[in-house]
Amino acid sequence: MPERKSQHWADRIVDQILAQPRPEDHVYHIVTGITPSGRIHIGNLREVLTADVIYRILQERGKKAKLFYIADDYDPLRKVYPFLDPQNYQKFVGHPLSDIPCPCDQHPSYAEHFLEPFLASMSQLKIDLTVLRASELYKSGRYNQVIIQALEARDTIAEILFRLTGKEIDEFWSPFVPICESCGSMAETKVIGWDRERELVGYLCQQCQNQGWVPVQGHGKLTWRVDWPARWSFLNVDIEPMGKDHGSKGGSYDTGQEIVRRVFHKEPPFPIVYEWIRLEGMGDMSSSKGNVVAIEDVLKVVPADVLRYLIIKALPKQRINFDPVNQLLNVFDEVDNEQAKYRDPRSLELSLASGFVPIKVPFNHLISIVQIAGGDPARVSAILKRGGYQIPESSAKELEERCRYALNWLEHFAPAEYRFSVAESVPQSVQSLTPSQRRVLGKLSDLLSTMLSQKEEKDISAEEIHRSFYEAAQQEKDLSIKEVFQAFYTALIDKEHGPRAGWFVKTIGVEFVQKRLAEASAIEA
Ligand SMILES: [Zn+2]
Ligand SMILES: [Zn+2]
Repeated sequence: MPERKSQHWADRIVDQILAQPRPEDHVYHIVTGITPSGRIHIGNLREVLTADVIYRILQERGKKAKLFYIADDYDPLRKVYPFLDPQNYQKFVGHPLSDIPCPCDQHPSYAEHFLEPFLASMSQLKIDLTVLRASELYKSGRYNQVIIQALEARDTIAEILFRLTGKEIDEFWSPFVPICESCGSMAETKVIGWDRERELVGYLCQQCQNQGWVPVQGHGKLTWRVDWPARWSFLNVDIEPMGKDHGSKGGSYDTGQEIVRRVFHKEPPFPIVYEWIRLEGMGDMSSSKGNVVAIEDVLKVVPADVLRYLIIKALPKQRINFDPVNQLLNVFDEVDNEQAKYRDPRSLELSLASGFVPIKVPFNHLISIVQIAGGDPARVSAILKRGGYQIPESSAKELEERCRYALNWLEHFAPAEYRFSVAESVPQSVQSLTPSQRRVLGKLSDLLSTMLSQKEEKDISAEEIHRSFYEAAQQEKDLSIKEVFQAFYTALIDKEHGPRAGWFVKTIGVEFVQKRLAEASAIEA
């Protein structure tokens, strides 16, 4: 194995996994699970991406592997989330997500409403998932045997949970939570008996007082801390990533390990504990808090490779601060430019997804250009060419796509200071500039005029133009250079800040700017 490969965290994890002896033809089962209770966000993406890199590396090493995603759509709706209408959803609290109507009426269920965009993003990210729905696993009978085993081992499980979590277990506690036949909720049902032979459970619903006997199949689910090890046992799970809450001491992996060994007589999977992804300035992403960035929204502004790379590059135990402004733009450039300082080639290799073709134009720069070019790729291409960027004809499609990303970024994530458009005529706000600011615009205009009289516009460099700002400032002693730039941007884009001035003037046309500044300086306050 080449030295370089062993440096990446995912390669090191695979080394550890392969150090455990397995038969030659063993098929590694890597399992992920997410509850589709709200928009599935890029914090959740870490779960599947962590699994996916392990899956890819196992295959690289000639092993057989299968990557599962279990949609926990049989989990109950915990509460009416802020994004739900209480009138419609209060009555469904406690019902399985797969049995609740979807918020938009276009999907078969509440769960599918959130699963559909997630699964579409997965295919864009080239994550090859075998999708299992918990509701189907329960309804099809896959769980029957483990449910009976868990009911039989109720006391053992209760003892493990109490010992490892320190939480009191009440005498009516059961590893199985029935769904009330009458009201459809599992929020307040209690198991009052069970029949091993007929696979039935007797229950009492404290919400509607209904009592009865129902088959375990499709009429309830195991509680999370038992469901997880049960699933490890019948899916033969070898490897599973988990958020740090599950992986902590006394967490569900801790209790699950002992439950799977003692109750289901299997070994727990190899755990990969990962940290949360926070949204810069907004805390850990959580769909119940509503501070999330959906995966499909990020895929509108960067190619799949870039999003993969952003997550894969960080060690799982490292918290990622997702910042759609500085960080996302930098990461884009790392993927696009092989000379980028912090580029990690192995992470990049593990991030291949969309046939990404580099064009080596800083994304930040492109964001300014698309605005000057009014989003027209042909004009963008012309501006880039004048600026010395060599974009081959064969990359026209990539450039067009990149322009679309830039426009989407401006629409979805750009802070106000990134957005601008060149004003059609001298903006009103020029009137509020000081007399010396208006005078300096006249001086700038004169300097540009001199340049234009000495050489052709195409031979004037951005540096020369940039220097003329300082020259003009020299002549207007009571102005700081900052005030000079401020006056300039006000006259052109009606803002106090903007793209790099020398480059900007050259890009929108020296003569155009020269005239505009002359007009602006002539405006009376
Ligand atoms: Zn829907
Ligand atoms: Zn009920």
